[in-house]
Amino acid sequence: MADISTFVQGFGRFQEKYFTGDKSIFDELREGQSPSTLVISCCDSRTDPGMLMGANPGDIFVVRNVGNLVPPYNDNPEMPGIRADIEFAIKGLNVSNIIILGHSGCGGIRALMDGEGITRRDYEFIGRWVSIARAARERVLRELSSAPEETRSRACEHWAIEVSLKNLMTFPWIRERVEAGTLALHGWYFDIRAGELLAYSAERREFAPLVGKSESGSRGAA
Ligand SMILES: [Zn+2]
Repeated sequence: MADISTFVQGFGRFQEKYFTGDKSIFDELREGQSPSTLVISCCDSRTDPGMLMGANPGDIFVVRNVGNLVPPYNDNPEMPGIRADIEFAIKGLNVSNIIILGHSGCGGIRALMDGEGITRRDYEFIGRWVSIARAARERVLRELSSAPEETRSRACEHWAIEVSLKNLMTFPWIRERVEAGTLALHGWYFDIRAGELLAYSAERREFAPLVGKSESGSRGAA
């Protein structure tokens, strides 16, 4: 396990990279941010969007939650949760893209597939949270009842992204911008085992490689 001092040293390297020299990326960012893209990703420690996408400070506005889920606009209005983050990204920052970034081997989606099982393991909130994507689970139970576990999990991870994309369109000010062509919605899926990035096609209703397996085989090379 990494000692906390690793992260203190990490900040030192960040400082060296971004706050030294004549021209710093933070010269402009000190005054404020204007990211182009909202990324909604899982909390999973392997799926840091900035790292995965090679983003610089100021490039992406990131919201993370278990299972990278978006509830519908009208669901439980007393508890805005992630909807407040989305509202700020859209109305306050005027982003032109929203990426829902899911991933393989997602514990949140496993909890969703578990159904009642998760509450029996002493978790108080996760079951209710991931039930946002219950339609994905129901589809798996309906269409893939006899498929192997791995196929079912992967399908649920994909279909949960589809549910969140649909839910985004229930926000009137998102729908408006999408229809006007000023905002684009994307569903991405990081396949951790294959090291690939897949993208959702709304026409074909399926995921296909956006960045396929690395051909170079240069892992570990300079
Ligand atoms: Zn996850």
